[in-house]
Amino acid sequence: MSQEVLYSSTRGDKGYIRASEAILRGLAPDGGLYVPDHIPHLNKTLPEISRLSYQETAFEVMKLLLTDYTEDELRYCINSAYDSKFDTEEIAPLSEAGGAYFLELYHGKTIAFKDMALSILPYLMTTAAGKNNVKNEIVILTATSGDTGKAALAGFADVPGTKIIVFYPKHGVSPIQEKQMVTQTGDNTCVIGIEGNFDDAQTGVKKIFTDPALKEELESKGFQFSSANSINIGRLIPQIVYYVYSYAKLLKEARIADGEKINVVVPTGNFGNILAAYYAKQMGVPIDRLICASNSNKVLFDFFKSGEYDRNRDFVLTSSPSMDILISSNLERLIYHIAGNSTTVDAEYMDKLSKEGRYEITDEMKNKLSDFYGGFATEKETFAAIRKLFDNAGYLIDTHTAVAASVYEKYKEETGDKKVTVIASTASPYKFTRSVMNALGKGDDGIDDFELADRLFEVSGVQIPDAVSSIRDARVRHTTVVDRSEMEGAVRNFLGV
Ligand SMILES: *Cc1c(COP(=O)(O)O)cnc(C)c1O
Repeated sequence: MSQEVLYSSTRGDKGYIRASEAILRGLAPDGGLYVPDHIPHLNKTLPEISRLSYQETAFEVMKLLLTDYTEDELRYCINSAYDSKFDTEEIAPLSEAGGAYFLELYHGKTIAFKDMALSILPYLMTTAAGKNNVKNEIVILTATSGDTGKAALAGFADVPGTKIIVFYPKHGVSPIQEKQMVTQTGDNTCVIGIEGNFDDAQTGVKKIFTDPALKEELESKGFQFSSANSINIGRLIPQIVYYVYSYAKLLKEARIADGEKINVVVPTGNFGNILAAYYAKQMGVPIDRLICASNSNKVLFDFFKSGEYDRNRDFVLTSSPSMDILISSNLERLIYHIAGNSTTVDAEYMDKLSKEGRYEITDEMKNKLSDFYGGFATEKETFAAIRKLFDNAGYLIDTHTAVAASVYEKYKEETGDKKVTVIASTASPYKFTRSVMNALGKGDDGIDDFELADRLFEVSGVQIPDAVSSIRDARVRHTTVVDRSEMEGAVRNFLGV
């Protein structure tokens, strides 16, 4: 039996709690993020792991970090999450193209990588509720600018013991994104458009979350709010699995020798996915460089270069919208670790970030970032990467993955490093059909996104995923639109209180 892993906040004093409690809470009461007190080493060798399925690999990794879950509980969560919802038995296949291996993380219900964690989070959360004697029904409240809302809806739909309410800006998401959400099935789901923008939705949700009287009233009526936000440790840990799995897969296919180091390239926004790769490295996966790829919102590139994090700059809208972020929340966990697990240092920097929008780390901390390499790609370079890979290798990637592919090309040119490299492929090209078609020189503003998907199929031969074809004629189930001042009322209405 390995040592128990406990969790504490990156800020404030060190109150240690168990994994299931950290998952239930999401954010620490002092505003910090939960981090493990140590990162355990894999206790099977990678050649041994290479003989395991995705689900078995998930079990080997997650049991080491979620130590207060029983083996049966973990297997239940894993098997409920990674099943036929995914359109391939492999769950996360690895495809070789253009001199790199693309780790396809988009075979789940909403054809993007957030499904990897949001498929399992509902089960981790309801299991945690049971373990901690929470008798209330868990109500997930989320504000979304499009993608996370749908992935959370798909994850929580019909999960016993939960309800999910998603608010989105009625006039602020793409037609496909809206259609994906308003056709969501499941009696425990509720989707509400608001007259306002994403910030209004977010502010409204925060207000409901932090209203003590409402909290008390709902608790007496059998409900308790929770969040499926990307800073929940229950979203981070399942993401470590596919880095272990991809290394094991390379080994199994004899693409690398045991112990051979590889590089990993991750298209980055909130810094969750690449932080999972960093943890995988610490668990014993021979990863050399963690290549952090940004789009034109290149705060992280500048940070790795100079040691200064500075969000005071213009926000750029790009064709890789899930990476259009100026505050990468999960970077806080890395800051805490490179400060020698110091809550004082972390809290000081985060305070500076919220007051001045910037902070600068010490040289000593900067030296601990040598695992990372930061790069960025412009819009032009992103589109060129899609076109080049398709023309030369017949392999189709989306805009986010293309940012990573482009940064990897620059990295190779700059360093001459020829190590085997895995690129995290974070969305299906059909999630961003219009941009992908534009990149291929076949865009057409005159037709809708579904017709455009048909054309992309004709051009590429890549099957249109069920996530797109099934919503085409699906019935709209959610039609409520409220003013931003009426959000609490909408919640009450759905819960019947
Ligand atoms: C969320 C997302 C990202 C960014 O991942 P982080 O973990 O936030 O860094 C990249 N690509 C796609 C398609 C995403 O949905």
